[in-house]
Amino acid sequence: MAHGDDKGLVLPPKIAPVQAVIIPILFEKTKGEVLAEASKIQYSLEEAGIRAHLDARDAYSPGFKFNEWELKGVPLRIEIGPRDIKNGEVILARRDTGEKRNVKITGLKNAATIALESIQASLFVKSRKFVETHITEVKDYAIFKKIVEDGGGFAQISWCGDSKCEEKIKEETGATLRVIPFDEKVKPKSKCVYCGKDAKESVYAARAY
Ligand SMILES: [Zn+2]
Repeated sequence: MAHGDDKGLVLPPKIAPVQAVIIPILFEKTKGEVLAEASKIQYSLEEAGIRAHLDARDAYSPGFKFNEWELKGVPLRIEIGPRDIKNGEVILARRDTGEKRNVKITGLKNAATIALESIQASLFVKSRKFVETHITEVKDYAIFKKIVEDGGGFAQISWCGDSKCEEKIKEETGATLRVIPFDEKVKPKSKCVYCGKDAKESVYAARAY
């Protein structure tokens, strides 16, 4: 399930190519020091198994970089400037909630790991809610056909697991079947929406675009 808001994508940490982006706040006088500390942070995050990227590009402002990485959906942003280093801190920002807070550099590995787990869990709950509120289970084939044809989006159906039924459904409605990614249990006594035999799987159906 894709996530996003008006700032762009929000990637679940498990699939994000970059899980934490480090953005140094660079000034001429303190540039060397800040970049050195930022590299150390990147190394220590990677050591903890976090896919971290240091955006050391000179030609772009921090604000420009914030927007760019937000658009790409990177789950965590770490800001570090000369004042932060003096305080032994960085700013840790969450892409999903927009929350920003100061974190001690010594505790960053831990804080980032926990934040990534929390983002993953909260996106999962949102997906599940989306499925529950936007997808109706349909037992009647004629109604199912109508929902798909009207462009009503998704419909949840029970299916016997036979590829012949799957092909027929696709032929007659244009909808393809997708397994619901939440270990959805088949309700007892469910019947295949197409052939009426005992259902083996609960799937959702939608037209492929
Ligand atoms: Zn069937």
